Amino acid sequence: MVKAVFPGSFDPPTYGHLDIIRRGASLFDELIVALAENRGKRPLFSSEERLSLLRALVQPWGNVSAAVCDTLMVDFMRERGAAILLRGVRGPGDFPYEFELALMNKTLSPDAETVFLPAAPQFFALSSSAIKELVSFHRDVSALVPPLVADALKGKAGIAARR
Ligand code: ADP
Repeated sequence: MVKAVFPGSFDPPTYGHLDIIRRGASLFDELIVALAENRGKRPLFSSEERLSLLRALVQPWGNVSAAVCDTLMVDFMRERGAAILLRGVRGPGDFPYEFELALMNKTLSPDAETVFLPAAPQFFALSSSAIKELVSFHRDVSALVPPLVADALKGKAGIAARR
């Protein structure tokens, strides 16, 4: 029974995140999408909003769930009995940060393993920040995020523009 955790801010979730979730769901017996508050960032969506979006988005997979993580990721993994930390890598630019994070987590929890999945080619340039930027200029993002997220973003365009 291999359990994995896929952590992130998901502010908001994109098709890039969903692609990693879809691939993680077929690689592992169980996958927990962990909504981790990034203290350095001021989110557009509250954690309640993001959790409810994520819960609706992972509905199609019987082995995927979503939860808020308000502790260190390695402690969350220990509590949930997860040995794998799943991360998506969009390109060489993501790698130094991801590698450092993986080393830090390995030091904190030697039994845990980080697994990197390369972003799908069509999602290499897709990030939550890019979505927020586009929304702030009232651009259509329906090709980049699921319909549920596109709808939620409609109510946030004004806030995104003022940030
Ligand atoms: P963080 O704030 O921790 O970077 P994100 O919500 O931006 O969280 O991303 C969570 C995870 O999803 C990270 O591993 C990130 O690299 C990955 N990710 C983000 N966007 C994409 C994408 N377009 N394709 C593949 N993986 C992605």
